[in-house]
Amino acid sequence: MKDYLVKAYAFDGTVRIYAAKTTDLVEEARQIHDTWPAATAAFGKALTGTIIMGAMYKGDQNLTIRFDGSGPIGGIVTTTNANGEVRGYVGNPHTHASTNDDKLADAYAVGNDGFIHVTKDLNVRNIFTSSSEIRTGEIAQDLAYYFTMSEQIPSAVGLGVLINEMNEAKAAGGFILQVMPGAKSETLDEIERNINAMRPVSDLIKEDYTPEMIIGEITKGKHEFIETISLHYACDCSRERFSKGLIALGKKELQQLIDEKEPVETVCHFCNKKYTFSDDDLKKFLDLAK
Ligand code: ZN
Repeated sequence: MKDYLVKAYAFDGTVRIYAAKTTDLVEEARQIHDTWPAATAAFGKALTGTIIMGAMYKGDQNLTIRFDGSGPIGGIVTTTNANGEVRGYVGNPHTHASTNDDKLADAYAVGNDGFIHVTKDLNVRNIFTSSSEIRTGEIAQDLAYYFTMSEQIPSAVGLGVLINEMNEAKAAGGFILQVMPGAKSETLDEIERNINAMRPVSDLIKEDYTPEMIIGEITKGKHEFIETISLHYACDCSRERFSKGLIALGKKELQQLIDEKEPVETVCHFCNKKYTFSDDDLKKFLDLAK
């Protein structure tokens, strides 16, 4: 089963639910960034939460979330678009916790103090950032708190990453549920009962539960599926983009780089791809720079 996300309306359209399986993209992120288990748990949940949130917003909008916590991982940045592509990086991928419980591990790695910053980039001229406090370091709980505080949408968030004895991401996924105005209190009670009775998402994914089946656990069948999106870890970096970054340094800094007589190597934070610029490249940039 490849990674994908399912959108559903439930309880006569008063509840929106998004569920995703993200095992492959979390494992790919682990390999790119060489994250250790505690970092993989935190990063994997951040990537999963972010990609689900990206699917909640329409159009060609980018969403970036920064988890600036006080814990040893030293911050997580994740960014996604509405096409199911996500990428990210962490401050310290070699964060180790003495527990394999993914809930404890991510709370330890992120830390229980700091802020979540959510930036929505509609297009170049419309960038909105809203923030909320990190209260537990557990990504799912802190995102639910963000929705309630910053967007005034009552939400439930479940995220899970299971790591195997080889320290690989064995199962990852999650759901976000949002309550629309007009939902009945009986509906909320029923959802709460169903979610409390559910096993952890990572256990369900490990047992080959699909996103559709996870939604079924929450609604007991009172839903209709709207859309399916395939999910990927993808970076859109390019030589051209890094060239622009170098040109933006300005003439003085570029001249210094040329004087050093070494090729300049830039590395993409998101995918670790390296781009090397020769002396000739730098001289061209010098002409273009201000
Ligand atoms: Zn890249």
